[in-house]
Amino acid sequence: MSDSKTPGPPTTGDLTSVTESLDRYRSNLEWESKFYRDTAELVERTCDATNIDPNIKNRLLTPQRALIVSVPTRMDDGSVKNFIGYRVQHNNARGPFKGGIRYHEEVSLGEVSALAMLMTFKCAVAGIPLGGAKGGIRIDPRPLSRQELQRVTRRFTVEILDMIGPDSDIPAPDMGTNDQTMAWIMDTYSEMKGHVVPSVVTGKPIFVGGSKGRMEATGRGVAYCIASAAEHLDFPLEGKTVAIQGFGNVGTYAARKLERMGCKVVAVADVTGGVYNKEGLDVRHVLKYVGIRKVLKDYPRGEPISNEELLQLDVDILIPAALGGVINGDIAKNLKCRILAEGANGPVTSEGNEVLRQRQDEIFVIPDILANSGGVIVSYFEWVQGLQSFFWTRKEINSRLFRILNEAFAECIAFQKKLDTDMRSATLALGIHRVTEAMLTRGLFP
Ligand code: GLU
Repeated sequence: MSDSKTPGPPTTGDLTSVTESLDRYRSNLEWESKFYRDTAELVERTCDATNIDPNIKNRLLTPQRALIVSVPTRMDDGSVKNFIGYRVQHNNARGPFKGGIRYHEEVSLGEVSALAMLMTFKCAVAGIPLGGAKGGIRIDPRPLSRQELQRVTRRFTVEILDMIGPDSDIPAPDMGTNDQTMAWIMDTYSEMKGHVVPSVVTGKPIFVGGSKGRMEATGRGVAYCIASAAEHLDFPLEGKTVAIQGFGNVGTYAARKLERMGCKVVAVADVTGGVYNKEGLDVRHVLKYVGIRKVLKDYPRGEPISNEELLQLDVDILIPAALGGVINGDIAKNLKCRILAEGANGPVTSEGNEVLRQRQDEIFVIPDILANSGGVIVSYFEWVQGLQSFFWTRKEINSRLFRILNEAFAECIAFQKKLDTDMRSATLALGIHRVTEAMLTRGLFP
C-alpha cells in the first residue's frame, strides 16, 4: 500500500503536528481510528504520569494479535454476502484473553482493537485473572432472520476457531449479540472439537451452562457503582433523577435496579429517540411497551426527546449505555449531571474527556472500565462455574459481584487520592499498574 493511501490521523492544519503525530503512530497505523488513537493516547499519558517502564508502555499500545476474516454467508434469498469479522487479543499477562463479540455496521479493526485494550484494563481493575480481547462483525444484525444470524455466527466461529478456547480466549456478548449468539458459538466450537466445551464462551443461556445473574450483571454493576459513588459523595440516592441513553441489556437492567434503589428514572432513549417525564417513568411499563413494540418511539407517557437532549438534561445521574463517542467536547461542556456512569464502552471522546477533567469537581465520572465491569465479572464467575461444573445461587453471584465492585471502587478512589488526578486517569492507572506488575514478573520470552 502506498503511503498516500495509508489512513493517518486527521489533519489539524499544522504540518509539524501532523508529521509528529504521524511519526508517533506510524507503527500503529494498522489499528488507526479516532477511538483507537484516543484510547492509546490516554494509556500512553497515564503510563508516563505513573512512570511505567517504557518497554511495557510500548507493548501496551498495540494488541498482541489480531485476525481479520471474511465471513461468507448465504442469505435467505439464496444470495451470498461476504461480511468482515475481527478478533483482537490485546494482552494476556494476567490470564486468558476475554471480551465480547460485537455485531454492528460500524465495526472496524481500529474500534475492536481499542475495545480489546479497554478489556485488558477492565479485568485488571476488577482484579479478575483474565486478559483483554474483543471481536466483531461489520454487519447490521437487525434486519437479519434468525437463520441468517445463525449462519453468519457459525461461519465466523469457524474462521476464528484457532484463536478461541476455554484456556486461551473466551468470547461473550457485546453490542448486537446476545445469549443465543453465544449458544451458537459454543455449539459450533463443540462440534468442531468433537466434545462439548461450554466454557469457550460466557453469557450463554442458563440451559447450556450459563450463569444466573449474567444477563443483568452489567446493568446491575452500573447501579452498584453509582451506589458506591453516592456514598463517597454523600449524595443519598433516594429521589435522585436518572437519564439513560440506550435501552438495551445495560440500560434496562440499570434502570430497574436504580428504580428499586429509590431513584427516579426520568428519561430513557434508544436509536429511535427517547422519552422524558419529569415526574419519573414507570420502568416496568416502559419495558412492557418495548417488549411489544421493540423500540421506544411514540411511548405515550412522557414527552419525546432526542438522544442529544437527553445527554444534556438537568438530572442527578446520567448513564450513557449505547454507542461510543457520544459525549464530545461540546456536549461535555453542557452536561448538568452530578454523576456520569459510563455503561457503554468509550462513550466520551478525548475532547470530551478534557472538558470533564476540568469539570471534575462538578461531575463525578465513573469511567467505563469500572462502571460496566459487572458484565465481565459475572462472565468470570460463569467461566469458573463451567470449568468446575458446579453452579452457584443467584444470591452468591450478586453478593460476590457487589463485593468485587465495591473493592474496585475503593481502590480507584485510593489511587485517585494518591495520584491527585481525575477518576478516569486513576482507574486506568490502577489497571495499568496491575498489568505491568504481571508483565514484569513474567518477564519477556525468549
Ligand atoms: N462485552 C462486555 C464488555 O465489554 C462483556 C465482556 C465479557 O463478559 O467478556 O465488558
